[in-house]
Amino acid sequence: MKKRKNQALLSPASAFVLCLLFCAALPLPLSAAGIQGTDASDSGRGSRTSGTAAAVPQADRVTYQEGFFYESLSEEIKARITGISYGEGCIVPYEDLRYLHVLYIDFQGLPQAGEIICNKAIAQDLAEIFYELYLAEYPIERIRLIDEYDGDDTVSMEDNNTSCFNYRVVDGTSSLSKHAYGMAIDINPLYNPYVTYPKGKRRVSPAAGAVYADRNKDFPYKIDKNDLCYQLFTEHGFTWGGSWKTMKDYQHFQKSLPEN
Ligand SMILES: [Zn+2]
Repeated sequence: MKKRKNQALLSPASAFVLCLLFCAALPLPLSAAGIQGTDASDSGRGSRTSGTAAAVPQADRVTYQEGFFYESLSEEIKARITGISYGEGCIVPYEDLRYLHVLYIDFQGLPQAGEIICNKAIAQDLAEIFYELYLAEYPIERIRLIDEYDGDDTVSMEDNNTSCFNYRVVDGTSSLSKHAYGMAIDINPLYNPYVTYPKGKRRVSPAAGAVYADRNKDFPYKIDKNDLCYQLFTEHGFTWGGSWKTMKDYQHFQKSLPEN
């Protein structure tokens, strides 16, 4: 359960129908209900599907576009994350977090539903950014809550999972990460690893992404300054970990919490 293989999210029949829809006219306002319906057929995920969360809207739900909405954490979502990404001693109140539902195009070119938990301060930014990425068919392999990986950032990165909130310290330090506040997001992390130099020796996280640490090489899913992710996130006031001097976090975009 900890690390899922690339299991099919769609039954062959629904994949065919979606493909037909998709080939006919992209971008099109895909029915969120349709995507969630296929999600629910994924037996491995049981009741922890985005469909379940989406079925009972919270009173404060904000829908940016069809399939792109955010809302306060429902009791069901709180139950999913408490003790995992929302660990003991978490100083960020539930009220400051939002559940964000997005659509995205996976590496097979298929539309999928993704789940993100983020700080309320960036929920609208992320809804707008992921909508633009979706329209541009920007490939993202998967967007699942890190709780599906028992909150293990390394396992999530190895699975190339895009994720945001996780109450944790910066890898290799004792200071809280921007992820702990839901103010940072990692995109396609396997292809965009985190490169540090402890004691002058290069360390790549996840280790499986070492082959992608050389940014002079050309390979798919690479985030650089020409990449749409870089453009959209920086337009929304985020900084990119790939611009840092002493270390490079190519997967990482973060924003500072507003003052007061
Ligand atoms: Zn990050």
